[in-house]
Amino acid sequence: MLNRRSFLATASAAPSLHAQTRFALGASMLAGFAEADITPEIGMEQPGGYGKVFHRSVHDPCKARVAVFDDGRKAVALVGLDALIVPRALVLAARKRIQAQCGIPGDAVLINASHSHSSGPTGLVQPGEFDSSPELVRRLAYEKSSMADARYLKIVEDQIVAAVCRAHKERADRQCGVGLGHEDKAAYNRRFRMKNGRTFTHPGQGNPDIVKVAGPIDPQVGVIGAWDRAGWLAGCIVNYADHATASPGGISANWIYYMERAIRGMFGQQAVVVFIQGACGDVTQVDNLSPHLRPSGREDAEFVGGRVGAEATKVLLGMPRGSLAPVEARSRVLKIERRVPSREKVAEANRLVQMDPQKAGVTEWTFAKETLMLADLIRREPVADVEVQAIQVGPAVFVSNPAEYFVEFGLEIKAKSRFQFTFPAELSNGCVGYVPTEEALSESGGGYETRLTFYSNLVPDAGRHIAAEGIALTHQLTPGALPEPPRAKPFGGTPWTYGNVPAERK
Ligand SMILES: [Zn+2]
Repeated sequence: MLNRRSFLATASAAPSLHAQTRFALGASMLAGFAEADITPEIGMEQPGGYGKVFHRSVHDPCKARVAVFDDGRKAVALVGLDALIVPRALVLAARKRIQAQCGIPGDAVLINASHSHSSGPTGLVQPGEFDSSPELVRRLAYEKSSMADARYLKIVEDQIVAAVCRAHKERADRQCGVGLGHEDKAAYNRRFRMKNGRTFTHPGQGNPDIVKVAGPIDPQVGVIGAWDRAGWLAGCIVNYADHATASPGGISANWIYYMERAIRGMFGQQAVVVFIQGACGDVTQVDNLSPHLRPSGREDAEFVGGRVGAEATKVLLGMPRGSLAPVEARSRVLKIERRVPSREKVAEANRLVQMDPQKAGVTEWTFAKETLMLADLIRREPVADVEVQAIQVGPAVFVSNPAEYFVEFGLEIKAKSRFQFTFPAELSNGCVGYVPTEEALSESGGGYETRLTFYSNLVPDAGRHIAAEGIALTHQLTPGALPEPPRAKPFGGTPWTYGNVPAERK
């Protein structure tokens, strides 16, 4: 709740130089972790659809989760927000305050939304956005669409700034590591080629018109860990590509909550678990090809979060520790045009929205509303600011953009990056809606993500340009060395004296 605004946890401090650790002490670097509460209030809007829904109960807290890495020369901050999206204006305001308060430059701060569909009102329509629009459009935007809450946005901004500055202030010598895991039972591509030659999103289990799945998933679980000198996990970052649509019921961080539980179950409550959402625009936890009844609610969230968390735990247990230097940041803002709806389409939309949604058809009516809101947006802002960013942590790089980005692009960025550990981060530093592949926007494409709406509207080649820019930014950086575990002592000449004895038969 909003009055519970204190920090839920911060990294354990006071490293002891004399404590025994399972790993011998090697190189280290400065790292700090913190988290802050951003749980919305009951009654606030629950964004995630094209209409209004309100929160009625709380399942678990939503948080801003922060990791700061500092190589002694530069610091970078990675923020994982339990939020559907993060608005650009909030990111710019938070970065300004972070720079002023703790000196981390704006382009070295990555703010990623987990895309939790059970979180607070950060979108989609922003407060005041349609104040100067014609009355009809203003009413459709404010009264019929999912809308951010100005007071909640301010709290989220304050909490991001506080948590980043706290993680920065409490940064301490940590042994850090990076590794990769694999989880392919918790994520499925949700788009399918159909017998009619087009592609549907979520065609439904058992649909006989399904020909085959239309795209891949990215099963990689990317993990960074940081341990204090006593061998306690201070915090970690997990990167995985899967819609946070496994809602346990009520306000929740979504499956990320169960991922955190799995990791903390092993390493303790002091560990801050930062989740950075990968490129999952066409990937969810729903297996449309399964013949079985799917789990729902809490069991669904447990399944996804538990599996990803367990895999991250295995990766953390096995990773060599040391320094993940250097840290570096690059960022560039692309100007990308929006797709413009035809005049006929706008006229038809104008006719449809005057009708009763039940008579017009709810889906048709909703898309008509979106068309009018988009036409209004294009009048005000025909070109979108699309920030592409690369944040390097030693041998790892996070490549971010503000799209709900198709997984094909995430895989392409991984394939073309020079970094062994490349972690795409969608819905970062702003939000420009779904950015599908050009194929998905062609005759053989189609489906939910390809509709032209107020939310999703960039030109068809946007995804390609965003990927190319992300890859180009990684090429400006040189990967750091992977920590190497300390070498075992050279063989002393004597094997274990109980172990080198001959067998005894009698
Ligand atoms: Zn989505």
